[in-house]
Amino acid sequence: MDGQKVIVIGAGISGLATVYYVKKKRPQARVVLLESSGRIGGKIKTVRRDGFLIECGPEGYMARKPTLTKLIKDLGLGDQLVRSNTGTYYIYVNHRLRRMPEGSVMGIPTKLLPMVTTGLISPIGKLRAGLDLLIPRVYQDRDISLAEFFGRRLGPELVTNMIEPLLSGIYNGNLSDMSLEATLPQFAAIEKKHRSLILGMKHIQPPKQAGAPKKAEGRFLSLSCGLDVLTEKLASFADDVMLNTPVSHVEPGKAVLSDGTAIEADAVILATSPKQLGPLLDFPEAWGLTNDKRTTTATVAMGFKKASVESLDGTGYVVSRKEGLNITACSWMDRKWPYTAPEDCALVRTYVGTAENAAIVEESDEAIEEKALTDLRKVGKIGTPLFSVITRQIDNMPQYTVNHNQRVQAFEQALENRKGVYACGAMLHGVGLPDCVDNAMHVAEQVGMDLKVKEKAVIE
Ligand SMILES: Cc1cc2nc3c(=O)[nH]c(=O)nc-3n(C[C@H](O)[C@H](O)[C@H](O)COP(=O)(O)OP(=O)(O)OC[C@H]3O[C@@H](n4cnc5c(N)ncnc54)[C@H](O)[C@@H]3O)c2cc1C
Repeated sequence: MDGQKVIVIGAGISGLATVYYVKKKRPQARVVLLESSGRIGGKIKTVRRDGFLIECGPEGYMARKPTLTKLIKDLGLGDQLVRSNTGTYYIYVNHRLRRMPEGSVMGIPTKLLPMVTTGLISPIGKLRAGLDLLIPRVYQDRDISLAEFFGRRLGPELVTNMIEPLLSGIYNGNLSDMSLEATLPQFAAIEKKHRSLILGMKHIQPPKQAGAPKKAEGRFLSLSCGLDVLTEKLASFADDVMLNTPVSHVEPGKAVLSDGTAIEADAVILATSPKQLGPLLDFPEAWGLTNDKRTTTATVAMGFKKASVESLDGTGYVVSRKEGLNITACSWMDRKWPYTAPEDCALVRTYVGTAENAAIVEESDEAIEEKALTDLRKVGKIGTPLFSVITRQIDNMPQYTVNHNQRVQAFEQALENRKGVYACGAMLHGVGLPDCVDNAMHVAEQVGMDLKVKEKAVIE
């Protein structure tokens, strides 16, 4: 039926993928994308400068999750897909960089020898981690924090020196808040099946190939043309893109803009940032998600002449919080993604801001750059940057705290009572780009089915 209209709110990857999938399901429907800022992409932002390609938000995504790769190929960008280079990863702890022990997965040891010989953990810490082989199950089908789960299984030292820096590098959160069920359900499942994490992780390691060892492959994919090419391409599927158009309220059948204008539609899909659900929908379960924790962070990307940066084999490091630095991690981007810097240059990306140290993100660019450089120089030799690009996410990083899944379930049930209103996005079912795309695809499928039913009802 001609004349059906769909509004998508938010032009991050979630909203953009929703636009694409809705258009695929209902090509005749008019899809209008409303975005409060002046640009497409949300957290995805690519800057090109002096031969550098700088990803200011996500740099790539987990290759093992297939939906995004399929989407990229369907859009004709498959020839731009690149796999990350592999390399040693380090942890900065006890004032020096130490290699992540071979065979550790998210900081959990699966091989004995590298663990016994690593300087990351004291002999007592190692013995305590070994108790994992003996102690009973910790997870009892009731959500607990990652700190409680890993702390009770593997002991505080392994958590502080290995697991915590790695996970907070990924989630930017505090392990004492973060939900086991929502962030790392696979570890709850391993414990359930094998009781011991160390033994269980051994079982899920891929079997070694017979014959010559295959070259290890990077676990991440990205686009050598820049991730913004993907977002621009997705946006081109919308019939209308309205930038600088903040929505202030949503109800069945319409979205109300901040200037009071109401835009009517058959379906309204929210794909906004995490704190917007409560204000836009104004029901208790939506506020339940909005009132959950969010964190603040900034990426500091700096270009250097290669000669002025210490040449370590590897792709970067995370920093143990007990070191008291402002930086939480550092990626040697040109090692991981060689196309991101000219041949004779290096691109270093570091991160500042944690739940406990959010104020630094509000400081001036100059102050952030100086503090980041001071810390980087404590870790290794680094010269004067050619330039820096600082990108802030203020109160905009969703945290899945304990019982997050229950809050999402309650929210989605309540949303079902608001006919024609839908939601997707990183605050619901996963923060990774592939998770956002999966979620967008499912919501678009539901929208497509509901529009079909509505169309049939009108015809009859
Ligand atoms: C520094 C950083 C590094 C990351 N690295 C990775 C990585 O390497 N791999 C990975 O998979 N993931 C990574 N992530 C996570 C991933 O980027 C995000 O989870 C994902 O991009 C979120 O997409 P989204 O569309 O759900 O939300 P957003 O990108 O936040 O988009 C929401 C959009 O809604 C708009 N909006 C908000 N309110 C309104 C309103 N009232 N009216 C209209 N529009 C509104 C916003 O302006 C925004 O454009 C990273 C995130 C950050 C910040």
